[in-house]
Amino acid sequence: MNKTKIVCTLNSHQDAELFDQLIEAGMDVARLNFSHMSHKDGIKIANILKEVRKRRTNRALAIMLDTKGPEVRIFGHQHNIDITKDDEIKIRSYLEADIYDQILEADNEFITNLPAIEEKVEIGQKILLMDGLLEGSVIAKDDGCIRVKIRNSGEIRPKGHLTIPNINYDLPFISDKDKADIELAIRNEFEYIALSFVSKKKDIDDVRKIIAKTDSNSEIKLIAKIENKQAVDNLQDIINASDGVMVARGDLGVELDIEAVPIIQKRIIKQCYLSGKPVITATQMLESMIKNPVPTRAETSDVANACYDLTSAVMLSGETAIGHYPKLVVETMNRIIGKVEASFQYDDFFAGLVKERLDRTSIIAYNAISTAYQCNAKALMVFTLSGYSARMISKLRPGIPIYVFTPIESVYNQLALNWGINPYLIEHVGTDFERMVARAMKLARSEKLLEQGDAVIIVAGLPMGKHGTTNIIRLENVEKASVEGKVLHEGTVAAPIIHINSIEDLKNREINNKIILLKNFDNSFLEYLKSVAGIVTENEENIDILQYLADRYDIPILINAKLASSKIPDGTSAELDSENKCIRDI
Ligand code: PGA
Ligand code: MN
Repeated sequence: MNKTKIVCTLNSHQDAELFDQLIEAGMDVARLNFSHMSHKDGIKIANILKEVRKRRTNRALAIMLDTKGPEVRIFGHQHNIDITKDDEIKIRSYLEADIYDQILEADNEFITNLPAIEEKVEIGQKILLMDGLLEGSVIAKDDGCIRVKIRNSGEIRPKGHLTIPNINYDLPFISDKDKADIELAIRNEFEYIALSFVSKKKDIDDVRKIIAKTDSNSEIKLIAKIENKQAVDNLQDIINASDGVMVARGDLGVELDIEAVPIIQKRIIKQCYLSGKPVITATQMLESMIKNPVPTRAETSDVANACYDLTSAVMLSGETAIGHYPKLVVETMNRIIGKVEASFQYDDFFAGLVKERLDRTSIIAYNAISTAYQCNAKALMVFTLSGYSARMISKLRPGIPIYVFTPIESVYNQLALNWGINPYLIEHVGTDFERMVARAMKLARSEKLLEQGDAVIIVAGLPMGKHGTTNIIRLENVEKASVEGKVLHEGTVAAPIIHINSIEDLKNREINNKIILLKNFDNSFLEYLKSVAGIVTENEENIDILQYLADRYDIPILINAKLASSKIPDGTSAELDSENKCIRDI
């Protein structure tokens, strides 16, 4: 299980089988890009994703809607227009609703949804078209219109992007379409909304108002996409107001000088983890794998470096949405992440953290990790309702797994995005903390997260059920389980224990030379049990037949070992010890 999470962009032609494969390969968050998706398709995919994730226990998946956001484009033609180096074009502001349908006569004239374009630029201002594929500069400002000389050849497609680097576009942040999309995400209980072209704190506050109006109980989280200069200027404010951030390198690369992007990427990642907010590094991470089965060396390093910088997640766009190798690309990304994480010195990072100005939850989190390192604990186990204490631990990037137990399904799936967190959904057991711990320990044992003898640090807030009370650090050891019973046939053997619930289990599982734990014995089982190493039952039924089996094949048998199946997980190494009349794990 990797610590750095993977966000995959999906498309509406893909199906449950592929989604299942992507989860298997390492997808943690599914992104639906509503710049290119209808409501019908969005709901369709979300429902498929929910079905797929329901079938997998202990594997959270977050669903994220990505808004279109305020985009600046040029219109006026329905066909591609060829541009030759040194051509001049005219762009005029046009704010009517029929802008999409306008057809202009001259091929070198365009209209844009950006208001008062001539007031926003100086002569000489750089202009980018088609996401930077065409570059030009303003050579004149006439009546309500600018003239741009293009420096290279290429083509302008209908509705192509217009970028004027480093300016404040001043467009309304939420369009009618965005509002409808945001409401869709809330009503369909998506875990996240990624907001395109956020430029200030108020943008996020405005979306929070829509959420409050649509469903005041909504738990949906907001990711602010940092994709222009204004957002970079207001970074810390935006981080504080949002629930996480995306380094949207696609648009950042045209809105700013492209060489500024790597430095800003590092800064955003660091500011996010210091603030305890998740951060996604996005766009072109394995771009060449849209067509090829292997990434370039540079792409491999790009993914690795984002992990070294401790990004919470890395994102795939076209690679998974339209690429030839969606499954392979996720597997590849997962392998790159795994390699980096195996070599990273998390304890050095932790030792270098500045401890001042931590809030109370962070102080508990800091000391929990510190205690875990000192005790050589194998994991941190966090009990949380809102996810907050888990995020405060994730913020400090501990080198051991963070197993998080929550009874709230939305929190469980949201935590799929957070660095280092493996979320588990457990039943609500009210305020009984000891029962909650016992359940989590059992789950940790049966999922093979922990082995007998392992030390683990538990973090929780008591009384349970009250938000914001993280106040407990407890050192626990996974105890050696031993269950007593009655000896039916003597002998001592050590072997993996296999839980058998039905005749199908006996037929399908590898049981020779294993210790077989039978919840209920049935006469029809007899013929399968001749070469097992030992037999344990939880009750005293059918003793005669078992006695016959034992005598005939000399198999050690312990009966009436009550609750053995819940104390000794399937597959663990166990010892059947007739001298001490018990079965125990070793
Ligand atoms: P997009 O956002 O893919 O929705 O444009 C990411 C980016 O700009 O990098
Ligand atoms: Mn973008």
